[in-house]
Amino acid sequence: AKNNGKNQFSYFTRLMDERAHQRLRLINELRMALELGQLSVAYQPVVELATRRIIKAEALLRWNHPYFGNVEPAYFVPLAEEAGLITEIGDWIFREAAASAKRWSGALGTAFQIGINKSPIQFLSKEQDTWVEYLREVDLPAQNITVEITEGLLLHASSEVCERLLEYRDAGIQVALDDFGVGYSSMSYLKKFDIDYLKIDQSFVQDMEDDENSRTIAESIIVMAHRLGLKVIAEGVETLRQREILNEAGCDYGQGYLFSKPLAAPEFERRFIRNEKP
Ligand code: C2E
Ligand code: CA
Ligand code: CA
Ligand code: CA
Repeated sequence: AKNNGKNQFSYFTRLMDERAHQRLRLINELRMALELGQLSVAYQPVVELATRRIIKAEALLRWNHPYFGNVEPAYFVPLAEEAGLITEIGDWIFREAAASAKRWSGALGTAFQIGINKSPIQFLSKEQDTWVEYLREVDLPAQNITVEITEGLLLHASSEVCERLLEYRDAGIQVALDDFGVGYSSMSYLKKFDIDYLKIDQSFVQDMEDDENSRTIAESIIVMAHRLGLKVIAEGVETLRQREILNEAGCDYGQGYLFSKPLAAPEFERRFIRNEKP
């Protein structure tokens, strides 16, 4: 019993060391992951609620690690940010998504729009933003791309952030505000910046069936957004009832497991571009 404290302590230190060690190991492996082809893109459909039409998707990063299997982006994106790898990875997924948007627009004969998450770290970096230029190079209309950003970026918006957002607007790239409602939710920047879409955070959607307040908040966000000329996308739609509530509230789009999990490009294409049954 006398040694217990010490043993406990060394146990925890060892655990911490292992964690730190594992983090470092993953950072090093993440450096190689792109070259080794371990990163991929999963596409999740964004459904127009009134018509059920699908002409949008969100591109989500996937890392298939040889030993750990699928590593969650919630875990490895922060590692990539910390290790200074997020711009390289962000540019890569952007190019992949642009290629998909081009292919799917061609197949459908209408503009297919893909949302890409842009890390605030990449957004704020001093490096030249090449996205607009790249779209010109590959001859993809900018309307096919939506950049998803979070509120935190706008809260501390520097002149560089404002300029970059203006550059996007002038080029025709659309901007979506992700996870809306859980952060600072200052309404003032909705008019200050040219935002095209609000994405209602999935926590409101998940609670709206049972919790009156969540439902009221979601409905109010929709009314406010429409008044300001923005479209609304609800995230994390899992049930028919949620879809119904959102549709009745006038929500424009829904995204969630009810419609589909994020899928690899060939699977997405089969189901939602060529409309083959699963
Ligand atoms: P996010 O941008 O809010 O992405 C939506 C997340 O919700 C995705 O998780 C998606 O798989 C998940 N989701 C979709 N439908 C449902 C549903 O019905 N129920 C539930 N419970 N979840 C649903 P994922 O793919 O694990 O990504 C997590 C986060 O990682 C993203 O949140 C985003 O912040 C970040 N992330 C993912 N890909 C990228 C990327 O390419 N670049 C950057 N910078 N961040 C990324
Ligand atoms: Ca997002
Ligand atoms: Ca716009
Ligand atoms: Ca989100």
